[in-house]
Amino acid sequence: MTSNYDYLEPVEIELKRADSYMLVQWNDGHAGRNNFLTLRWNCPCAGCAGEMGSKGRLDIVQELKADESVLESLEPIGLYALRPSWKDGHDTGLYTYDWLRALCECDKCMAENPGKFQNHRLVRR
Ligand SMILES: [Zn+2]
Ligand SMILES: [Zn+2]
Repeated sequence: MTSNYDYLEPVEIELKRADSYMLVQWNDGHAGRNNFLTLRWNCPCAGCAGEMGSKGRLDIVQELKADESVLESLEPIGLYALRPSWKDGHDTGLYTYDWLRALCECDKCMAENPGKFQNHRLVRR
């Protein structure tokens, strides 16, 4: 198989709002899936994830409120990221395509790495 892409990017995103996930077709042929709840738990913004060694909100809370993982809209930022707006009004997380792909929860990715998430959050190694 030849690759004709320089970097990974989604070519099509299908929102399955009723079931709280989205299907992401990638330019390398990967058919990905991202659950909204997992996306929200892995919000990369400084407030949620912390920065420079300080803890973020998601390091502290045990649960999310229901509307925090309800996706209102998804806006492309440049050619490298997506910015979700959540129902609770939070919209400062920029999900780079690399991050989105790292969070992929399709059957294949989960089978390759079953311990990928701990308490919804991606285990960084
Ligand atoms: Zn955030
Ligand atoms: Zn995947």
